[in-house]
Amino acid sequence: MAEPKLPRNDHILIIGSGFAGIGMGIRLEQAGIEDFTILEQADQVGGTWRDNHYPGAACDVESHLYSFSFAPNPDWSRQFAPQKEILDYLVRCVDDFGLRPHLRLGTAVTAARFDQDTGLWDVQTEGGEHLTARVLVSGCGGLSRPSYPDIPGLDSFEGALFHSARWDHDTPLEGKTVGVIGTGASAIQIVPSIAPTVGRLAVFQRTPPWILPKSDRDITASEQRRFRRVPFLQKLARYAQYWRHELFALGFVVDPRINKFAERFALRYLERAVPEPELRAKLTPDYTLGCKRVLLTNDYYPALCRDNVDVVTGGIQEIRPEGILTRDGTLHRLDAIICATGFQAAEAVAPFEVRGRGGRDLNNEWADGAEAYKGTSVAGFPNFFMIVGPNTGLGHSSMVHIIESQVEYILGAVKTLRARGVKLMDVRRDVQDRYNQRLHQRLSRTVWSTGCVSWYQTTSGKNTTLWPGFTFEFRARTRHFDPAHYELVPGALAPRGSREQPVPSVAAPLPGE
Ligand code: NAP
Repeated sequence: MAEPKLPRNDHILIIGSGFAGIGMGIRLEQAGIEDFTILEQADQVGGTWRDNHYPGAACDVESHLYSFSFAPNPDWSRQFAPQKEILDYLVRCVDDFGLRPHLRLGTAVTAARFDQDTGLWDVQTEGGEHLTARVLVSGCGGLSRPSYPDIPGLDSFEGALFHSARWDHDTPLEGKTVGVIGTGASAIQIVPSIAPTVGRLAVFQRTPPWILPKSDRDITASEQRRFRRVPFLQKLARYAQYWRHELFALGFVVDPRINKFAERFALRYLERAVPEPELRAKLTPDYTLGCKRVLLTNDYYPALCRDNVDVVTGGIQEIRPEGILTRDGTLHRLDAIICATGFQAAEAVAPFEVRGRGGRDLNNEWADGAEAYKGTSVAGFPNFFMIVGPNTGLGHSSMVHIIESQVEYILGAVKTLRARGVKLMDVRRDVQDRYNQRLHQRLSRTVWSTGCVSWYQTTSGKNTTLWPGFTFEFRARTRHFDPAHYELVPGALAPRGSREQPVPSVAAPLPGE
């Protein structure tokens, strides 16, 4: 494979090759901006869909919606695609849209430092290289760093122990006594997949999740043919899925009381699926539906009803060489422990050192909880853009929609920067603060502020992950890049021989203005 062209001063570096990095690359390419490189630390693209290959891994948003609007896939085999199919889709996007020459695999970024004089980023890699870029785009996402539970004795366990996002396929679990810690989105897919083959399975539950049935099914060959022949039909399916999901937002961001209907439905489903009252009591949530992520599955409750599966709710005291000791004094002897304990998402420090104007450290700036403007720009960090940055996450719909919105916004920023020969583009602090003040006011009225503890919040309780509105609102607010909200310092030469079209300077008003 040809190495990407050496970066010039007006180069764009994108970090990460999940949906975010690939989407950004495709849209740059389509806009005629070819001077970019995608850096990927692993030896394959795919981001979270490359890393999460645990048994049963699949999407919990419908496939037609969970894909790029500009790259529809008529061949999805199921309503909710399995992990491998999504990974294959992303690989196909890289090839179909000609991103290979822009891709540098096996290149982990360790630091990025902004030089105020030149208006350039110096990006350091694990191999000791220094790459220079005018624009730095982080597509690292919030779910890239596994979170291991902070349980005493974790390292002392003598059996196999791994995280759901680092599944060890070389460790056979058949016939073994296995413990799964956690009952989140990953665990509810893992448990039914391994329960039939392990000897015994202990599911260590701290908080029961709200569960709704998943309307999953095969997409038939004739449906696929129809989607291929009449692409409009697939668009229609996508629209239908999109608006159904937006309806869910009503109970999340408008009035959590609306979720009482869904709660009743979920409790009826639990009653039907789990006939045994004692187990059912353990599985009954005591917080508002939606406060933690609502999980969709048809086979989790049936798996928990199996004779070889126990739901352990006593609370974990410590991990010992031979297993897990719960607070009631029971030692659960185990051959393997799977930590389905999620990711470091809310304590959203940058995954590498990022230093902006005057050497300021992004992690210090975010010491009280991450904040950004439109989840994309941070004051004091010029020419730096994030995809899936602070408060862009969703409880109700497809993150690909948010990613595409941010990609378009960043594309607008890049076009403005280049067309005007801008050296330094820095979001105004007052604009960022005002944006966040309103955002947090709104968050305080959402379902996520109804009193549960979730990974959406930092330990101090600040919600740094979720967007408090409908996705069409986010799309509207990111539709046009808003140069008036940025400090623009001229001084960079426009790239030579570029096919880029200058963009008109559109100063979009702040939301509510
Ligand atoms: P998660 O939702 O954060 O769940 C982690 C689980 O581990 C929770 O049940 C948590 O309990 C438990 N836990 C954490 N620390 C613990 C400790 N010290 N002792 C006992 N239990 C502990 O993580 P996840 O399931 O990996 O999912 C993370 C996110 O990834 C999801 O919300 C979703 O956005 C994404 N995801 C998506 C899909 C998909 O289908 N698209 C699939 C998997 C994941 P508490 O609830 O009590 O904190």
